Amino acid sequence: MPGLWTLGIESTAHTLSFGLVDADGNPAPSSSSTVRPDEGGIHPREAADHHKNAASELLQRLFEANGIAADDIGAVAYSQGPGLGPCLRVGAAIARGLASKLETPLIGVNHCVAHIEIGRQQCGCSDPILLYVSGGNTQVIAHLDGRYRVLGETLDIGIGNMLDKFARGQGIPFPGGPVIEKLASEWLDKNPNASLEGLELPFAVRGMDLAFSGVMTAAQRLLDNGAELGAVCWSLQEHSFAACVEIAERALAHTGKSEVLLGGGVACNNRLREMCTLMAEERDATSHAPPRMFCIDNGSMIALLGKIELDHGRTTSYAQSAVDQYLRTDQTPVTWPV
Ligand code: AMP
Ligand code: MG
Repeated sequence: MPGLWTLGIESTAHTLSFGLVDADGNPAPSSSSTVRPDEGGIHPREAADHHKNAASELLQRLFEANGIAADDIGAVAYSQGPGLGPCLRVGAAIARGLASKLETPLIGVNHCVAHIEIGRQQCGCSDPILLYVSGGNTQVIAHLDGRYRVLGETLDIGIGNMLDKFARGQGIPFPGGPVIEKLASEWLDKNPNASLEGLELPFAVRGMDLAFSGVMTAAQRLLDNGAELGAVCWSLQEHSFAACVEIAERALAHTGKSEVLLGGGVACNNRLREMCTLMAEERDATSHAPPRMFCIDNGSMIALLGKIELDHGRTTSYAQSAVDQYLRTDQTPVTWPV
């Protein structure tokens, strides 16, 4: 009898993560490790080395935590793209090896679509506008005509990369986003009547798209001109999150949908969650955010999408299993009900 569990392998960037879903698609917590460089940003080759070195222990830990053995795995899914080539290739190689050894189907999935499906499952929403805010990606996505279509996205860097890069300039190590959140909320506690006067930054909206590098440079300039770090963190969040929420609101208006779903690591941020809720309330819509362990990159979401696609008849042959660094959200046909 084939194993009941689907294994998911996530390795698009800084994190290697193994996760599981059971025969009903219920996820178990992932077993993950994130590379944290002593200085500088994420180097793709170094991150790939980290993933290679961490893999066997992480997988063993996942099996132990769930009381299962390799034979209980009935399918192996992995992130086929988008992401950093060397990192993706480590995950794909592990997936091919395991699927071949265990004689299970192999399913290469789209990382961005996996964020959407775990969010839909966890939040119980049906047909949302997804605000996908992660390190490398910032997109507003809607299901239209059998695909998840990108209605707007960043034209330069992802919002998470922008926050991390700004933080790095202040000596704050990766990931900087959570530290910026903490500094901003501590500053706001001390300055409850805070105003953006004197802390203005450019607005990142470009039509339905976004651009963050100018915002980051302007935030650094505020510091150079003597503004407090906490104040600048607060202003940076207010401006960059408002831009994302504005695009999501326009997507709601344009498509007539009535749910917003947050996904990606930056969706862990309480202020962003609050801004989305306020926007949705004003439009008689609802706003949803999955538990934080399913916002950050995780193997469970890859396992879930792998299982959904397998249940709808798709597997990946070894010949088609190469990774695609530039895989787009709208390249994946949505063959399951939305
Ligand atoms: P991902 O690429 O989806 O794994 O998300 C990683 C990104 O999420 C990094 O850029 C982090 O700085 C960012 N991030 C994680 N937690 C938070 C938070 N609480 N506030 C803002 N950004 C965050
Ligand atoms: Mg991600």
